[in-house]
Amino acid sequence: MLKLLDQLLDRCLARCLLCGTGEEIRAGICAPCQGDLPSIQHACARCALPLKNASDRACPRCLQQPPPQSRSYVCWNYAYPVAQLVQRFKYRRDFAAGRTLAELAAEQIGRKLHSSERPDLLIPVPLHWRKQLTRGYNQAQLIADILGKHWQIPVDGRALRKVTHTGSQQQLRRSQRLKNLARSFAASPAVEGMHIGLVDDVITTGATVEAATQSLLHSGAVRVSTYALARTP
Ligand SMILES: [Zn+2]
Ligand SMILES: [Zn+2]
Repeated sequence: MLKLLDQLLDRCLARCLLCGTGEEIRAGICAPCQGDLPSIQHACARCALPLKNASDRACPRCLQQPPPQSRSYVCWNYAYPVAQLVQRFKYRRDFAAGRTLAELAAEQIGRKLHSSERPDLLIPVPLHWRKQLTRGYNQAQLIADILGKHWQIPVDGRALRKVTHTGSQQQLRRSQRLKNLARSFAASPAVEGMHIGLVDDVITTGATVEAATQSLLHSGAVRVSTYALARTP
C-alpha cells in the first residue's frame, strides 16, 4: 500500500529533467525531450563508432584491425544534452540524471539484444580505488546495476579491478599509452567460460574498454560485449 502511494506521489511530482514540464514523463524525462536526444542511428557493430552509410557493418579501423570485443552498443552521441547529463551524474552526484540515461539505455539496447547475444554477467569498468574513494561512487557500476535489473542479468562489480593508477597519460605516445592501459586491469578467474557484458558511461577513444576486454579474455572469458551510454565521435 505504502509502495503504491509512493509510486502515485512520484508520478504526480515527476518533472522532466531537462525542461521541467510535468507532462508525458517516463524515466524522468518528457517524451519530446527524449525524442530530441542525439541518438546514434547507425554504428560500427564492433566499436560503436557512428557510421554514415547504413549498409556498412564495421568502420574502416575495425575492418583492418578488429578490437578484442565482439560487439559494442551505444545509445547517443556525446553531445548536448546527453554530455551535460553525463557530467552532472559523474561529477556532481546527480543520480536522477544517471538513472534516466541508464533506464532509457536499458530499453533501447534491450530491444536490439537477441537471446543469443545476451551476456551471462555484467561487469562495470572499474575505477582505481583511489579515484573511487574521492568520487564516492563508480558511475559505471550504477549503470550496470540498472541494465542488470532491466535485463535480469547478474552484475559483478568485483570481477574486474583497476590495479594501477594510470593518471594523466596525455604526454605519452599512443602505443605506450595502450601498453600501460593493458596492464592496468586485473580480471578474476571467475569470468572463465562466460560471455561478459562490459559496462561504461562514455566510450572516448575505446582504449579503456579494449584494455579491460583484453584482461577479461586473458582470464578466460569467451566473449565480451560492451555497453555504454554515449560515444564521442
Ligand atoms: Zn522535457
Ligand atoms: Zn569500429
